[in-house]
Amino acid sequence: MAVTSNETDFPADLRTLVLSPADYLAGGTKTLRFHLTNSDPQTALYVKLSGTADWLSLAPQETALAPGEKQAIAVTVRVDAARTQLQAGGPPAAPITLLSQRLGGAGSSPLPTMSAMVYVRLPVAICPSCERTLDADLSDGASIPAFCPFCFERLRPCPICSTPNTWRAQQCIADSSHIVRGNADWPVLGGDSGHTGSRDLNSLGLTTVREGANVALTRRWSYPSVPPSRAENVLFWSAPAAAYGMVAAAAATAEGDAHIYAFQSDTGAPLWDPYPLADPVYPERGGVTIHEGQLYAATVEGLLICADALRGTRLWERTLEGKVYGAPVASTPEGPLLVPLVTPNGGGLAQIGLAQGTGVSLTPLEGPVMTAPAYADGRVLVHDDSGVLSCLALETGQLLWRANGLGQFQAAPLVYEGKVYSATNTGKVFAHELQTGKELWQVEVTSAVLAGTPACDGSLLYLPGEDGIHLVSAALGRAVRRYPTRRPVRSSPVVLAGALLFGVTDGDVYGAAPGRTMERLYETGTIGSQIIAAPALADGAVFLTSTNGVLYSLSLG
Ligand SMILES: [Zn+2]
Ligand SMILES: [Zn+2]
Repeated sequence: MAVTSNETDFPADLRTLVLSPADYLAGGTKTLRFHLTNSDPQTALYVKLSGTADWLSLAPQETALAPGEKQAIAVTVRVDAARTQLQAGGPPAAPITLLSQRLGGAGSSPLPTMSAMVYVRLPVAICPSCERTLDADLSDGASIPAFCPFCFERLRPCPICSTPNTWRAQQCIADSSHIVRGNADWPVLGGDSGHTGSRDLNSLGLTTVREGANVALTRRWSYPSVPPSRAENVLFWSAPAAAYGMVAAAAATAEGDAHIYAFQSDTGAPLWDPYPLADPVYPERGGVTIHEGQLYAATVEGLLICADALRGTRLWERTLEGKVYGAPVASTPEGPLLVPLVTPNGGGLAQIGLAQGTGVSLTPLEGPVMTAPAYADGRVLVHDDSGVLSCLALETGQLLWRANGLGQFQAAPLVYEGKVYSATNTGKVFAHELQTGKELWQVEVTSAVLAGTPACDGSLLYLPGEDGIHLVSAALGRAVRRYPTRRPVRSSPVVLAGALLFGVTDGDVYGAAPGRTMERLYETGTIGSQIIAAPALADGAVFLTSTNGVLYSLSLG
């Protein structure tokens, strides 16, 4: 028999029963209650209840409810046994499984069995990071402290069972079927190590975007809240990255006073004190990268920093032999970190270990590497300004193949499903096979400079250029459409379920739903301001920076 779970047919009036701190201290036994309701006016509801913890007992353990009927379920907690289990390392919550089935009238077959859970929580919360007991008032089921007072891990209660989870967790540690944080992160330039710049609606947790229509953008928060009026207060931002419900970006004043800022993505509240940098991260193509709980940034002068992403504390710093203009990119969960370099003799690609920042390899390249590298399937792709796309082996940096004579680049390489796309300053675009380096196609889409890293959603490439956005078919390299702009497009576009969004050097954000005309979606409203750095798309918002000194969070609707 099929077992389904249907949220609208949840038969209980509570999802979590919490033992009060007084009852927990008193010991003995305590009986809690919740109610089952059959809200359907036609059919009877049969429910079978079972608890897994041996400190719980239920009465009744099965029941049949007539249409519209309500019934109390008594849950008896043997408090001393529960405490003993908790002290032995057991979880502070135990599930009660409700298997229910609707029984139709005579002659109709029974409907599928549904499964649901009600949790019994002890008034104790355990830090998921250091496993110490938190002083939490759980009497209302939700008063988990914002962070652990012992290890400063940021905590987020599970929306279903209220168990404290780390901000990084996507599934609840008490029950992996509980989604604590469902939205996809955008931890690096272009949203992933291939810089694809595209997402579907589900991955953003959006359901309200109408198909075939442009998204609406409304300002959720900004930092600072209004553009600074004094030039010395203007911040020059790098590209933001968003993960775990936070957004981070580096910024510097005209005098070179540089910091990394981190904000809570929904409210814009600062997460930690700005992290000081010895010199700026390059404001246009540079950026921060968030990876496995850590935040990485490289300054123009080659200072590479690794900080705890959610605490803002320094883990290590090291100085690289060269200047850095593009964003560092993380490869696999274990590393290494890929850092593009400009050296006196040309350029290079440094591969750096994540744990202590010790070097894994350095591959010298003929030309300066001005943009971020890309990573996919054990291969590192690098554009250098001698006109070469190089494919290097991860860790060793060994050259696997190279394609010459492409031209100079403002764009990072883009990797999507086994193909590498290179947009050049001469207006040409190239596609190569990731495995072999074989050229698949090349096309001259414009005589203008392709001035930023493109996006790809599998069917189309979206190329920012000095004469607008060019759409090219990913399979054949055929130019499909151009959205002309009056000012150059240098910022990377993002694609949300086929709908295009991009910032322009007139300071405004434009968009076009698939096959539709372009519309202006948001105006930063500062004369002379430009959007140049790549945006991030996460948590139902697009995060972008403008040369008016402001980092914007624009919610998508
Ligand atoms: Zn802790
Ligand atoms: Zn949970």
